[in-house]
Amino acid sequence: MTTRETIELFGKHVIANYARSPIVAVRGEGSWLWDADGKRYLDLFPGWGVNGIGHCHPRVVAAIREQAGKLLHVANVPFYIEEQGRLAQLIAERSFGGQCFFCNSGAEGNEAAIKLARRYAADQAAAGAHPVRYKVITAYNSFHGRTLTTVAATAQPKYHAGFYPLPPGFVHVPYNDADVVAKLIDNETCAVMIEPIQGEGGVNVPSDGYLPALRKLCDERGILLLFDEVQTGVGRTGKWFGHQNWGVEPDIMSLAKALGGGLAIGAMVAKPHIAKSLVPGTHASTFGGNPIACAAGIAAFEAIEEEGLLENALRIGKQIKSRMAAVAEKVGFIRDVRGMGCMIGIELDRPGADIVKQCMAQGLLINCTHDTVLRLLPSMAATEAEIGQGMDILEQALTAS
Ligand SMILES: *Cc1c(COP(=O)(O)O)cnc(C)c1O
Repeated sequence: MTTRETIELFGKHVIANYARSPIVAVRGEGSWLWDADGKRYLDLFPGWGVNGIGHCHPRVVAAIREQAGKLLHVANVPFYIEEQGRLAQLIAERSFGGQCFFCNSGAEGNEAAIKLARRYAADQAAAGAHPVRYKVITAYNSFHGRTLTTVAATAQPKYHAGFYPLPPGFVHVPYNDADVVAKLIDNETCAVMIEPIQGEGGVNVPSDGYLPALRKLCDERGILLLFDEVQTGVGRTGKWFGHQNWGVEPDIMSLAKALGGGLAIGAMVAKPHIAKSLVPGTHASTFGGNPIACAAGIAAFEAIEEEGLLENALRIGKQIKSRMAAVAEKVGFIRDVRGMGCMIGIELDRPGADIVKQCMAQGLLINCTHDTVLRLLPSMAATEAEIGQGMDILEQALTAS
């Protein structure tokens, strides 16, 4: 099928809820993506962060092929699934010893986190520990997903418009300000839910004291701390999980995006004493934790470990930041270069959409979020030469505009 034919098919049969460019993606390998016309792109935003270790990582592809020949799917009732248990172990041993519930997306991971926080509070209330609590505090410019409840948690009016009434129980606060959180916790609050680094909201890195202050606050007030690690998790920031950069642990975290090395999978990870509240019948997912997605996830973890990709993520971050800092001295409109590892934001004093378009024309794929922040989520396996090539194109686009 030609590019034009595919686009025509979409015009007729696919809902136009995405602002797509006229490119039909057909093949990927590492940091490279090919379209239906044979054009090759250097992809520094592979799969919106899903392809955390690049397109079609050979270990992930091999694991999927092997698993596909054995078992694609069985339900969680009445079966145990070995791959699901092994992936949960990999997550637990690299994080805070939490237990996993598996789902299929970031929004579902956050839904599960919110449901568990409320359910745990309900169990505590039933035991006489405190009155019923249900409110969850979230931050402005957060992004937690597109279901009605995660949209309500997402404190950005543009995502709410036209979808009222939203589920109640969410209280919104400025990001990176623990004092406001302290003031707004009341006796109906059950949790605080935060991205360790805000992704969609502009790659906002909090000051060093923020996450520790939230941890202390939640402990003092006896409420749960939830980290949305859907974008920051699974190695992207140079640590297995973003919160490890600040030495604090959540009570519950959500994962998705890079978790499956390119396959659709999400998870909600909770401290065991909290996870106990999710008794049979309280929550479930038909596809959650299926053998093939979990086999892909296991392969992704093994690749990150055995190929030293956490260290490589840090190297990539340094390379991009130092290069862009130099470009910022040449062009007057770069306000800030920030981020950690393979999660970098370049804030401009103007909209960045044109730069993204120019880069695309030159064969480089990047993203612009929050109108003015160029966002890069490169593969943790990208080479120095690939990043250098990408920076050459980006520098050219920035200096030409
Ligand atoms: C992408 C993202 C989500 C939503 O994930 P989906 O898989 O699209 O549901 C939630 N939270 C964060 C921080 C994200 O980056």
